[in-house]
Amino acid sequence: MPINGQLPDYINGQWRHSGATEFLDVCNPATAEVIAQTPLGGLAEVNATVEAAAAAYPEWRRTPPQDRIQYLFKLKQLFETHFEELAQLITIENGKTLVESRAEVRRCIENIEVACGIPTMMQGYNLEDVARGIDEIMIRQPLGVVAAITPFNFPMMVPFWFLPYAIACGNTFILKPSERVPVTMQRVTELIEQTGLPAGVFNMVNGGKPAVDALLDHPNVRAISFVGSTPVAKYIYARGSANGKRVQCQGGAKNHVVVLPDADMEMTTQIVSDSAFGCAGQRCLAVSVAVTVGEAKQTFRDAIANAAASLKVGYGLEDGVQMGPVITRESKTRIEGLIAKGTSAGATVLLDGRGAKVANHEAGNFLKPTILDNVTPSTEIADTEIFGPVLSLVHANDVDEAIEILARSQYGNAASIFTSNGAAARKFRYEAPAGNIGVNIGVAAPMAYFPFSGWKDSFMGVLHGQGRDAIEFYTDKKVVVERWPKEWSRKF
Ligand code: NAD
Repeated sequence: MPINGQLPDYINGQWRHSGATEFLDVCNPATAEVIAQTPLGGLAEVNATVEAAAAAYPEWRRTPPQDRIQYLFKLKQLFETHFEELAQLITIENGKTLVESRAEVRRCIENIEVACGIPTMMQGYNLEDVARGIDEIMIRQPLGVVAAITPFNFPMMVPFWFLPYAIACGNTFILKPSERVPVTMQRVTELIEQTGLPAGVFNMVNGGKPAVDALLDHPNVRAISFVGSTPVAKYIYARGSANGKRVQCQGGAKNHVVVLPDADMEMTTQIVSDSAFGCAGQRCLAVSVAVTVGEAKQTFRDAIANAAASLKVGYGLEDGVQMGPVITRESKTRIEGLIAKGTSAGATVLLDGRGAKVANHEAGNFLKPTILDNVTPSTEIADTEIFGPVLSLVHANDVDEAIEILARSQYGNAASIFTSNGAAARKFRYEAPAGNIGVNIGVAAPMAYFPFSGWKDSFMGVLHGQGRDAIEFYTDKKVVVERWPKEWSRKF
């Protein structure tokens, strides 16, 4: 299966050409080279995929959990063996640096490792003699066919927030990857194939909105996991729920970091620089607004401007590059437009990354780190998810005011504080209205054995991805109450 040209779907253990008539070019964001074409499949492709997943379900569900996870052990091993190749593919289609891509593959593997604990994690509970001679047990059973719809910024890791848990729990799974970065998952699917996973347990269908709508409407799809922007998350949550499905939607973000004057300024600067500009700011946990308190206004501002200015921007496959391009030309134009609006609204440009050119890669979607100072809370630049390498600086007189500023955001994905004061840190942890909190940590990404939380418009649903929430999401609870009167038993 060549990873170029028109990409096939993977249905019922076979590579199939999509019947799509429209295709989207997949471009390397650093070079603008077209590396593949995504078929924009729809109803017919989704129907075939769901049919295959539904047919595979009864036998897969009966496969003992410890046998199901053997495929995951094999997959982990294959990922370790092909680690570098997978990381390179991520860089080529997404643009992040090789170091960042390696971290993505590692976090992906971590989710497989956690899902290998399903024989223990999936256990129910029981109580004898809930009434005299009557026992009660709770059993977890898989749901059936489940699907995930994923974004461009983590082509490999985000699908694995769901896939390993779903299939280890006994469900059959359909992935609809981002049409902008479908290439890595093609290679991953070849490796899944090598594990000998039975046909129809994992399936992949390529497409955009029509494919998503077909999944949302198909009566045999029991659950939908989504990661992407908030407007799409809201749409998917509403339509999927209205169709009676279990839905979890992780949406967009606008993450704040609060810097107190007593923070270790060197460490804080380094971490915030990585958090704001790593992956070119295209992380749902990227720091987008730094709220400096008191005299941190001066000390942090000078330090972060120096750190950001020193970052080497370029093609992520090249040595020493610390920040890659943004995903598309449209994205670059949108981000530059938001910076311009910020300055019109009174912000001062401390560092201007617009118009960046990288030698030998003039066609790439490059921006350099940008820092806007004196940003007024509640202006567009302060409230909008930019999803690019732009950090806004806002100033507050004390921790209370800093928490008030971040609490105004419609989003609640993540928030961090940098301080050496335990009481301030505890107050922040207690009061900050966000689902992932960092204390002297920039990108507070939960390990796979914890839920990837997220509040407000950053998450719709009840159960999050990863960890124990994943088991809850991918299973139904069955409660059995049993009576076996002694007199019914034959005497032996
Ligand atoms: P996106 O919302 O444009 O696309 C995500 C997925 O939804 C894709 O598979 C796409 O095909 C599908 N889609 C797009 N428009 C649709 C529509 N109108 N109807 C139905 N389906 C549609 O997101 P993106 O640009 O790929 O990813 C970036 C966004 O994802 C950012 O907002 C980022 O914050 C968010 N994100 C959130 C998390 C999190 O954990 N909360 C993690 C990663 C990314």
